[in-house]
Amino acid sequence: EEHMLRSDKLRVIGELASGMAHEIRNPLTTIKGFMQISKANGYNIENWYGLIMEEIDRMSDLTAEFLQFSKPHSIDFRVHSLHECMLKVIALMESEATRFGHQIHYKESMDAALVLMDQDKMIQLLLNIVKNACEAMQENGVIHMQLMCDAKQVTVIIADNGPGIPGDQLEKIFHPFFTTKESGTGLGLSICYKIVQDHQGTLEVESELGTGTRFIITFPLAGKQS
Ligand code: ADP
Ligand code: MG
Repeated sequence: EEHMLRSDKLRVIGELASGMAHEIRNPLTTIKGFMQISKANGYNIENWYGLIMEEIDRMSDLTAEFLQFSKPHSIDFRVHSLHECMLKVIALMESEATRFGHQIHYKESMDAALVLMDQDKMIQLLLNIVKNACEAMQENGVIHMQLMCDAKQVTVIIADNGPGIPGDQLEKIFHPFFTTKESGTGLGLSICYKIVQDHQGTLEVESELGTGTRFIITFPLAGKQS
């Protein structure tokens, strides 16, 4: 990121800003339309409360997620156990997974791998990926989470047995605002990408239609818990 050219940075900011403006303008146009119609026809706006609230929630989700792009303060970087983060994410996702009829299997590693991290961002990253897996799978899906470690790096694998991602979409999934969901923001994975970059890590995806999707994330190892 440090060696990114200034002009590239400006281009990226420009793309994000225009994407965000577009995403916010649509719900605003909808709300304004409802208001104008009800005023012109003397309709009772109460009939549209539900729809208007949905649009407002959508804008609120978008802006909340957008804040995740902010750079973590270096002061928040501490050495933490990645295993603990995995457990937190599983605890946070358990009820949602159950609601979908999914199971989360976690293959614990014996190594208590430590990573220099902003813990909140790390949890956000893992959460976004597990959430996508939950949303992608039909009922009774299985999410496999795994933590591995060698002398230099830690690897996290999050795999699902969902529908998979078509080849032509595979590179787009990390682009801001790319979504195939009716009420998706398309920001989750681009935020993941940013968080991984901020942690000097790598993020890869492998997917096969009808078989499932696997996210592979690596971080430099900061040590092992004794
Ligand atoms: P959102 O979840 O709001 O759609 P994301 O950036 O989190 O935005 O994901 C972008 C898109 O990537 C999703 O809409 C979906 O099409 C695809 N995707 C992400 N994870 C998976 C997965 N595990 N299985 C299938 N498709 C996925
Ligand atoms: Mg998502």
